[in-house]
Amino acid sequence: MKIELIKGDITKIKADAIVNAANSSLLGGGGVDGAIHRAGGKQILDECMEIRNRQGKCKTGEAVVTTAGNLPANYVIHTVGTVWNNNEEKSSELLANCYKNSLKLAESLNVKTIAFPNISTGVYRFPKELAGEIAVREVENFQSEIIEKVVFVCFDDENEMIYKRLLNL
Ligand code: ADP
Repeated sequence: MKIELIKGDITKIKADAIVNAANSSLLGGGGVDGAIHRAGGKQILDECMEIRNRQGKCKTGEAVVTTAGNLPANYVIHTVGTVWNNNEEKSSELLANCYKNSLKLAESLNVKTIAFPNISTGVYRFPKELAGEIAVREVENFQSEIIEKVVFVCFDDENEMIYKRLLNL
């Protein structure tokens, strides 16, 4: 899999799938979640509600898929990041699950290109450096015959610097 880094807004990315750092309610929130729902339109929220009615809340580390509505992507994969609570081992495992489960779901949808935001590093306060290490490790370790390209979309300067270093760019 090819790995790229882009600085900017994930709602503008043309990929088969973009990943949303959702919360367990799946009903939208601030940060990247708010941006995706605002730009993608009501269809995304409608599908999130259908999922909620079917299966209840989405657990931390798990992932579900909806249409991308008005966005240039085809799918939005919603994964629920972990709130940092100083239990480094547990939090790290849950954040790793976000990446693994999103990639697995993407494969099942025959996704060739997928873009990730820096999950949990906003309101959920996961330390950016550690979150970046986990994200890069999980993507590098994921063996896929289907996914061809993974794009890390960094919104803030600090994450961009961290990912540049981690990816030797
Ligand atoms: P979480 O609750 O998982 O921490 P946030 O949305 O608060 O989710 O933050 C996750 C990351 O998404 C942060 O690094 C934030 O800078 C970034 N972000 C916010 N808006 C966007 C956007 N439009 N595109 C890409 N990343 C974004």
